[in-house]
Amino acid sequence: MTADLRDLYQEVIVDHSRWPRNVGPLPEASHQAEGFNPLCGDRLTLRLKVVDGVIDDVRFEGTGCAISTASASLMTEALKGRSASEAEALFADFHALLTGEPKANPALAKLAVLAGVREFPSRIKCATLAWHTLHAALHAENRPVTTESMP
Ligand code: ZN
Repeated sequence: MTADLRDLYQEVIVDHSRWPRNVGPLPEASHQAEGFNPLCGDRLTLRLKVVDGVIDDVRFEGTGCAISTASASLMTEALKGRSASEAEALFADFHALLTGEPKANPALAKLAVLAGVREFPSRIKCATLAWHTLHAALHAENRPVTTESMP
């Protein structure tokens, strides 16, 4: 990765952590879940409005480090208009980007800015917390999720 590209990625992460998108309550939510990453202290509540199997709206609330906040913000932008199964497929490709062999998925788009956390394994859970919480919300698991019970 060139230094210029790394700077650009850093800029996007800082922007989304300072001014996260889609923050706040979602009174008409059909799905919700809470996530907690005890390694870092990141917490978030994710709410989704799913209509006919498509994510119509998504918002989050919580407190966490810059990576977890930026990742949740970028995730909400990436999810709107996608079906639940498309969202799960995107999570699989995003997880691969951070932990293993990245697959070429143009839908990852801006999410690729988080690829840099691959160099910091302790931060991977910060970047995936929102997605694990999304998975729990879509599967209507009512118990809070913690990154410590995840692979
Ligand atoms: Zn964190």
